[in-house]
Amino acid sequence: MEFALFCTRVNVVILLLALCSPCKFIQSPMEFGPLNNFLQTSSTASVDFGRINFNFPAAVLRPESIKDISLLLSFLSASSSSKVSVAARGAGHSIHGQAQAQDGIVIEMESLPSAIEIHKIKEDEDDGVSYADVSGGVLWIELLEETLKQGLAPRSWTDYLYLSIGGTLSNAGISGQTFKHGPQISNVLQLDVVTGKGELVTCSPTKNTELFNAVLGGLGQFGIITRARILLQDAPQKVKWVRAFYNDFQTFMEDQELLVSMADKVDYVEGFLVLNEKSLHSSSIAFPANLDNLLPHLQPSKIHYCIEFAIHDDSSSSSTVQQVVEEISRMLRYMPTQMYSVEVSYFDFLNRVRLEELSLRKRNMWDVPHPWMNMFVPKQGITDFKDLLMESISAQNFEGLILIYPLLRDKWDTNTSALLPESGGSEKVVYVVGVLRSANPTTCSTKCLNEILRSHSHIAQTAGEERIGARQYLAHHPSPAHWRRHFGRRWDRFAARKARFDPLCLLSPGQGIFPRAL
Ligand code: FAD
Repeated sequence: MEFALFCTRVNVVILLLALCSPCKFIQSPMEFGPLNNFLQTSSTASVDFGRINFNFPAAVLRPESIKDISLLLSFLSASSSSKVSVAARGAGHSIHGQAQAQDGIVIEMESLPSAIEIHKIKEDEDDGVSYADVSGGVLWIELLEETLKQGLAPRSWTDYLYLSIGGTLSNAGISGQTFKHGPQISNVLQLDVVTGKGELVTCSPTKNTELFNAVLGGLGQFGIITRARILLQDAPQKVKWVRAFYNDFQTFMEDQELLVSMADKVDYVEGFLVLNEKSLHSSSIAFPANLDNLLPHLQPSKIHYCIEFAIHDDSSSSSTVQQVVEEISRMLRYMPTQMYSVEVSYFDFLNRVRLEELSLRKRNMWDVPHPWMNMFVPKQGITDFKDLLMESISAQNFEGLILIYPLLRDKWDTNTSALLPESGGSEKVVYVVGVLRSANPTTCSTKCLNEILRSHSHIAQTAGEERIGARQYLAHHPSPAHWRRHFGRRWDRFAARKARFDPLCLLSPGQGIFPRAL
């Protein structure tokens, strides 16, 4: 795109934003003729997976190159009269409008050319690693499909793969592999970032380190990730996927912690609450085992628990995967006979939530409000947290899934912007609890949705610093003051990074952390 033309277009938009009511701008996109190819309106930019917040941007940028992003941000940061802010939108799978920009500009990252370049180490190369260079708007599923063609795959995942690289790296990116390889942000070698000042900077653990650390887990506050270098490993062909059921929370936790202490054998560990028969079925759509035998063992009105673990079948070990599963199962204390295992392809294992999505879509239950809450909970407070949570939940009527699984602190780099709860002494384990609810509009009205949201903020607040020391993941807070409390002693560093890389607070207004400065 020509710079002059670009500036003219942006100037016009800035002028329009200053002169017109943003609503008019949105409602009358045709007025701007040639501008429409560049800055467009969009109905999707005001909607996200949460379907709770709907903030309308004045315009949408669908960049054709990184330069488009850099020019837009340079222009806005040099303009002293505009209060326009900018949000990068990956896959829009946030819950509370984090990728939205009321009256601002949303950059749809998916429109960047979706380059994926794979560097595979050669067999005779002793050192060096395999990695992929990938655009910020690419989805993890696309990266998986491409890397598998070369027998490789990223090491660390999220449960659902239709999320963008830039979107998950702005948070942390966690799943059952996190205990072993750390979150996705611990598996990045280098980033290209356009800062809030419009500068395109390459950064890594050794180059422009402060920006690298700021952006990882940085909630989109410091720059827009246009390219990431993701560490790869050899991909297994198959995975042994195991589920074991418990009727006692303490044993469930202890066994999860035992499993994460065996990183040499185990590749994935998660767990979830079995609240009712329906929740068991909906969490088992992708797990191709017959669980009928389990049903008579579930005591009515009692909560049960399921540990899910997986072992890669990569044929590199002398014992077979089945032998390893048997060895591990002898150490676990699940309900007698209540362990089930299946063998699936690595791709199907990683892409398991897609089947749940398709099933929910069929029932018109995907595009509904999702009042989700995710918390990191110190190990010493996890039972207290579970009890607090269950006080506000009716196990019989609950629609969705409650995940609970352990992570290991030493796999997280404290220099990044991502936050775990403060460490209680030598405690290595921290739990993640995901309350992943759907609000079915036919049974849960706006009043009911608001009640759920209120109860989540009550739990998050009560479980916060004083009682348990838990911290929200994918956090949502009502005011900058709440965010300051959220960051605690890390606030000063976060704010200093903002002042350095996005001094006008142009970026990611949907998080509500920093008011836009002139
Ligand atoms: P968006 O919602 O588009 O954006 C999120 C934030 O990142 C916004 O602030 C946005 O401005 C910013 N952003 C987006 N792209 C960029 C970029 N290129 N550069 C800088 N900032 C950017 N999370 C987990 O960790 N583990 C899970 O297992 C998991 N499972 C999920 C399952 C489902 C069904 C859903 C809906 C979400 C899940 N998440 C999970 C949460 C998810 O990781 C985050 O919501 C993530 O932000 C979604 O990525 P996105 O591309 O949709 O981001």
